[in-house]
Amino acid sequence: MAEVKKFKSFLAEFNETCCRIGKNPKDITILGASKGQQVDSIKLAFEEGIKHFGENFLQEAEQKILEIGNLPTWHFIGSIQSRKAKRIASLFHWVQTVDRLKVARKLNENRPQEMEKLNVCIQVNPDNEESKSGVPLAGTKNLIGELAQLERLRVRGLMSIPAPTKDFEQQRKRFGRIRSCFEDLKAIYPQLDTLSMGMSEDYEAAILEGSTMIRIGTNIFGARN
Ligand SMILES: *Cc1c(COP(=O)(O)O)cnc(C)c1O
Repeated sequence: MAEVKKFKSFLAEFNETCCRIGKNPKDITILGASKGQQVDSIKLAFEEGIKHFGENFLQEAEQKILEIGNLPTWHFIGSIQSRKAKRIASLFHWVQTVDRLKVARKLNENRPQEMEKLNVCIQVNPDNEESKSGVPLAGTKNLIGELAQLERLRVRGLMSIPAPTKDFEQQRKRFGRIRSCFEDLKAIYPQLDTLSMGMSEDYEAAILEGSTMIRIGTNIFGARN
């Protein structure tokens, strides 16, 4: 099947890239960004070794999670409307797009007691782009301090979608700024272990700058519907 070939070729390319730049592929989690993809494609990717999936839209995700179940680890990577925080809190293992205290509080209040703590990342907006959500790097310290007090959340790190550029050195520079912010935070909160950055077009630069989780859509699944 064409799709299986695609997963295998991405995994081979990823391993080759890690090897070339001196990183251990086992230190990096591949998250399949599965918005707009069919349930069958996600199941195939899972069988090929991709254990984490990220969804952007609640309704679409609900259907998929119902059908596929909870063997994969499900990440919410879309923007959060606060009225949807309640359902998000009971459906996902991770939420990577926390960018304000109000939403974090709602997630915390609504995380069911019988479930494990909800893993969260702060979404950062390193270039302060108007069109994007996310906290400026300078605001992360404050927000993490607040999140660390919410009992039903487990703060894991930072997530970022920097402005796209084809220039490799530019990519590195941007990821480097996020990494340095992450290192500063880790000095205060040693439990932080996740730097979620890098997508199909820029994951090599992200890994070079210390990414621990890359979010790949197109290169794994092909074009979306
Ligand atoms: C869609 C998406 C990705 C994956 O993008 P590709 O360019 O297809 O790899 C990664 N992160 C987020 C938040 C996304 O919405």
